[in-house]
Amino acid sequence: MNRWLFATNNQHKIEEAQSILQGFSEVISPRDIGIDIDVDETADTFQGNALLKALAFHQACGLPCFADDSGLCVHVLNGAPGIHSARYAQIQGQPVNHQANNQKLLQELNDSTDRSAYFITVICAVGFTSEPVFFEGRVYGSIDIESKGNNGFGYDPLFIPEGFDKTFAELGESIKNSLSHRSRALAEMKVFLQNLTQTNLLH
Ligand code: IMP
Repeated sequence: MNRWLFATNNQHKIEEAQSILQGFSEVISPRDIGIDIDVDETADTFQGNALLKALAFHQACGLPCFADDSGLCVHVLNGAPGIHSARYAQIQGQPVNHQANNQKLLQELNDSTDRSAYFITVICAVGFTSEPVFFEGRVYGSIDIESKGNNGFGYDPLFIPEGFDKTFAELGESIKNSLSHRSRALAEMKVFLQNLTQTNLLH
């Protein structure tokens, strides 16, 4: 079976990718092969940051490698927090604080009636084809007026996906995973790589 490295230290993401790519490839983590590198996300796009991470890990281990970069984009805030989602309310030198990020987002939106937003994931895959390839997944929805629910992480207590009246944090993991930006990008990558395998074009 194919053996691919998912360039992330987030075990939750590894398990999600393992479940989507089950039976098709073995997804391993940097920790599984003793790689410990921290890539500075210095690009100004999701694509750029995913590429930086995928390249760094591919160069370190030589295996086909994929990396993701995700965030929340809010329409009336011109796409913010966007690539700065993890550190939206960051105080210099302090770790990521999801609660502070959520409070800041509510303050920025104030009483805005347009609360439309989407989560996006961009995956970059390196070492599968001669050039890096990119896959994108989005889930559209809106930002609630207050934090609700205890599941998930990040902006989940504020994000209501289209077609629902509860936040991701209230809906829980299995509903979230069935429609999340990350699962959609992973599914798109799987289709692409299945086609390559069938035509023997996979490196
Ligand atoms: P990452 O690139 O997947 O690590 O995501 C960067 C940041 O975007 C996270 O720290 C969260 O603030 C936000 N984010 C990304 N995906 C999600 C999600 O599924 N739920 C809630 N917040 C998310």
